[in-house]
Amino acid sequence: MDKISSVFGNMVFNDAVMRDRLPKDVYKALKKNMEESTNLTLEVANIVASAMKNWALEKGATHFTHWFQPMTGITAEKHDSFIAPSGDGGVIMEFSGKELIKGEPDASSFPSGGIRATFEARGYTNWDPSSYAFIKDHTLCIPTAFCSYRGEALDKKTPLLRSMEALNIQALRILRLFGQYEIKRVVSTVGAEQEYFLIDKTLCEKRKDLMFCGRTLFGAKPPKNQELDDHYFGAIKPKVSAYMEELDEELWKLGVYVKTEHNEVAPSQHELAPVFTTSNIAADQNQLVMEIMKKVASNHGLICLLHEKPFAGVNGSGKHVNWSLSTDAGENLLSPGKNPGGNLKFLLFLCAVIKAVDEYQDLLRISVASAGNDHRLGGNEAPPAIISMFIGDDLEALLSAIERGEAYTNNLDRTMNIGVSVLPPFKRDTTDRNRTSPFAFTGNKFEFRMPGSGTSISCPSYMLNVTVAESLRQFADILEGSKDLETSLISLIKDTVAKHKRIIFNGNNYAEEWIVTAEGRGLLNLKSTVDALPLFTLEKNLELLKRHGIFTDIEVRARQEILLREYSNVLNIEALTMVEMANKEIIPAVSSYIKALADTAVAKKTLGSDISWELEKELISGLSSISMCLHKAVQELDNALIEANVIEEIGSSAEYYNKKILPLMKEIRIAADTLETMTASRSWPFPVYGELLFSV
Ligand code: ADP
Ligand code: MG
Repeated sequence: MDKISSVFGNMVFNDAVMRDRLPKDVYKALKKNMEESTNLTLEVANIVASAMKNWALEKGATHFTHWFQPMTGITAEKHDSFIAPSGDGGVIMEFSGKELIKGEPDASSFPSGGIRATFEARGYTNWDPSSYAFIKDHTLCIPTAFCSYRGEALDKKTPLLRSMEALNIQALRILRLFGQYEIKRVVSTVGAEQEYFLIDKTLCEKRKDLMFCGRTLFGAKPPKNQELDDHYFGAIKPKVSAYMEELDEELWKLGVYVKTEHNEVAPSQHELAPVFTTSNIAADQNQLVMEIMKKVASNHGLICLLHEKPFAGVNGSGKHVNWSLSTDAGENLLSPGKNPGGNLKFLLFLCAVIKAVDEYQDLLRISVASAGNDHRLGGNEAPPAIISMFIGDDLEALLSAIERGEAYTNNLDRTMNIGVSVLPPFKRDTTDRNRTSPFAFTGNKFEFRMPGSGTSISCPSYMLNVTVAESLRQFADILEGSKDLETSLISLIKDTVAKHKRIIFNGNNYAEEWIVTAEGRGLLNLKSTVDALPLFTLEKNLELLKRHGIFTDIEVRARQEILLREYSNVLNIEALTMVEMANKEIIPAVSSYIKALADTAVAKKTLGSDISWELEKELISGLSSISMCLHKAVQELDNALIEANVIEEIGSSAEYYNKKILPLMKEIRIAADTLETMTASRSWPFPVYGELLFSV
């Protein structure tokens, strides 16, 4: 057996293991549950638990944990051992169906946005049979959802599962119209391409900003950056390929189909792409990918940075969420296909996405909103904060022909009558790549490029699921009552295109003009998290989320509050780190350098009046005055932070951090970075950009 097959999924209680170890009827019941969301009985759970336990013990596991994704954005686990007293002073290994289904972690310190007071410690974790259990660090990890005593979602998995159900219901209604009664389930599929930086660990550890904030708060531009594009797809360096090799193997063991790895545009930046799967499993696996990436890095003397913008002026890191819809028969509903009937169906699903993205630009923007991603959106080589869609020239021409009620003939003379027509077999490369679009159609799926590298893909995925579910719901309402399906379909597609074509933009999203054009089209430009989050609770959004059972009003408000608070917290930590680095490292370092210059000047003076010490004088004067500016700005920031502390209302606090603290941080950075360029390397207190970016 080849190496990959022998390790792949080794540590996963996957379908093959289940088929092998479970009685046939139990296996069937579990599969039915996974595929059709039927309820599981306790008997079935007991048998599954016992098989899981035996399998895990054979693999050397000693503990089990309900693995969940609280609102902190990372995963949480509380380990219990399998041990139970045997009654005769010995131990037996126990794990019941009850323990598999329900956990009760005393996890009261996770953010709940006011849903749960700390004294109400009760929260439950609930087994998610649709995502496989796995073993990590001698612990059987059971993917679970996390909710409050009253069942309110406190995690990132629950809304995703809810959204998949909503999407399934509405998509099936549409498929029934096309006569596809045999289809039992439609799922959203996701492949998340993950970008990251690898930086030398010893260098990182010398910088408080990287250690505390995961990004540099200071750093002048190095002489060489990414201008030469010599890193992109370049040969992978030995240290990095050793890292990738171990990472691949660890992820294969956990059943993650990691497929491609290459260098990215920025120096020290790389990308990993797994093969797509259901959005729920993709979200779980992406959490694992991030965790394992960091862990493996430290084995290689490296640190893996998952921040969206670790280095100013250098490409940030994103996480492209490739998204599509698939039936249980394996049909990709966003694949243009070959037969005419299928094409009309494709156009309908395409229109559902177009309508969803246009009507819920705000929710999609919110789904990627974070303090870190604010630095990236609109920055180097990243999509702007404006949401628009790229569908390629062919499809755009096709849609506008339909809108005008004309036949569509493309330049290859592939004729296409509207409606009952033949859409030419759609070759992948008929859509050129548009790397600048935040939401691009790439042949048979959409690629949402705004999500940041560090955050869970759950939120962007469930927002896509629910907004598209809403389009499909409205479409189904219209079409189900129609006498002449084909005519109704064509007019529906026509109307949708007319109404929502403003969201389609195939041009360069990085161009200045686009901002103006987009404004003219009435598209939203929510530049920061603070601009975006208030729209979460707009009536239309509450209505949508409630209608499809994703969130109650309370849950939305809680999430809004958590995100705003997180924003303020992140900025608070960054600002405090800046103050500390400026006061304790930069200013003292510059002073020492000034002292050295002054000593030199004095020494020169003793050599006689024909030796000039003008140079030292000029340098000292420049350094002193800029240090003074830095000092003043730091003082101002210090005071502003005291003021920020007393603002109680969460929205006002986030607003204050955005409007007051952030600009002061910029000012401090400019002064400090100027000082860096004027100070001798040996005097500068921490590694600079050139060292950080080019040392691995
Ligand atoms: P591209 O050439 O457009 O980059 P790739 O085939 O390399 O496309 O895929 C990029 C990512 O998109 C991968 O993670 C892949 O698994 C994912 N992907 C491909 N097809 C789908 C699909 N139908 N649904 C969701 N993700 C998909
Ligand atoms: Mg990509």
